[in-house]
Amino acid sequence: MQTKISHYYLIVDLEATCCDKKTIPRHEMEIIEIGAVMLNRATWEIDSEFQQFIQPVRHPQLTDFCTKLTSIQQQDVDEAPKFIEAISRFKEWICSFPNHIFCSWGNYDKKQFIQDCAFHNFAYPFTSEHINIKEEFSEYLGVSKRFGMAQALNELGIELKGTHHRGIDDAHNIASIYRQIQSAKIS
Ligand code: AMP
Ligand code: MG
Repeated sequence: MQTKISHYYLIVDLEATCCDKKTIPRHEMEIIEIGAVMLNRATWEIDSEFQQFIQPVRHPQLTDFCTKLTSIQQQDVDEAPKFIEAISRFKEWICSFPNHIFCSWGNYDKKQFIQDCAFHNFAYPFTSEHINIKEEFSEYLGVSKRFGMAQALNELGIELKGTHHRGIDDAHNIASIYRQIQSAKIS
């Protein structure tokens, strides 16, 4: 039997509504940005990227904390489509790369997709397993300690590009980490 090889690592990073005063409990957080890149496993190039803001409905007003953390403005989400339209666009994009495997930094992004899909009664869009790059990074270093994305870049001597906590920039930076650790395994 032939093993199906994924041609792409689909690296996703989400931003969500949040606060520093417990006014938004974890189970009420909602995605406000999907950032994603298709990292080609043969060339290690990014062949395509996807960026989409989403209008939250449970806590439509972003907190100052959230705006400061993510740099996402109220206007960005007010003008954005709601979850169903946004995830439909995302699904269309990922489906145009049939052989991909869903990856993210930690398990947060996967859990947030599951939560928002359940709330909006939309089928979870991924068919592949999930790769937790945060875990793979610690395994690569041979340590049990878990690192934040910025710390991991620092460990590898890679410059953080763009704005930290912006989904699309985080996705590109995570791709740089994964490219480096995967190519080190091969060579
Ligand atoms: P990140 O991918 O690290 O930018 O984080 C994803 C989301 O997690 C953010 O958009 C916030 O909703 C939440 N988050 C990240 N860091 C914090 C923090 N220090 N305090 C509260 N929420 C956070
Ligand atoms: Mg992020």
